[in-house]
Amino acid sequence: MFEQTAKKLKNKKIRPTAMRQLVLDVFMKSQYALSLSDIEEELDYADKSTIFRTLKTFEEKKVIHSIDDGSGSLKYALCHADCEIHHNDFHVHFVCENCKKTYCMNQISIPTVSLPKDFTASSANMIVKGKCPNCSKKE
Ligand SMILES: [Zn+2]
Ligand SMILES: [Zn+2]
Ligand SMILES: [Zn+2]
Repeated sequence: MFEQTAKKLKNKKIRPTAMRQLVLDVFMKSQYALSLSDIEEELDYADKSTIFRTLKTFEEKKVIHSIDDGSGSLKYALCHADCEIHHNDFHVHFVCENCKKTYCMNQISIPTVSLPKDFTASSANMIVKGKCPNCSKKE
């Protein structure tokens, strides 16, 4: 039933428990980034702390990356295949001001900024706000 999720987890050296496969399945079906409570809603029989631990494991193992979209709750989305030792998700994120959904713009990378002497960047976060295709269609 969960062949795809089991394979993906094994590739990342994660033991494919039922819970982990369920959470991964939610991500694989979603077009946008998900918060802890979004996942809790999808899997209403699972408890929040278990989901949270699963998310932390996934983030450490580079299955998902977290996004601070300014909404106050972290969102998570699947990583690119090239996240191995470090996260490589330096892409732009788009937040729809109407439906509040956050999307990964995987094909748009964050422009490199040249920092003053002695400043070293370790990560960058770029959020573009506006209206998503679904919300634009409704007008
Ligand atoms: Zn990543
Ligand atoms: Zn929208
Ligand atoms: Zn992303």
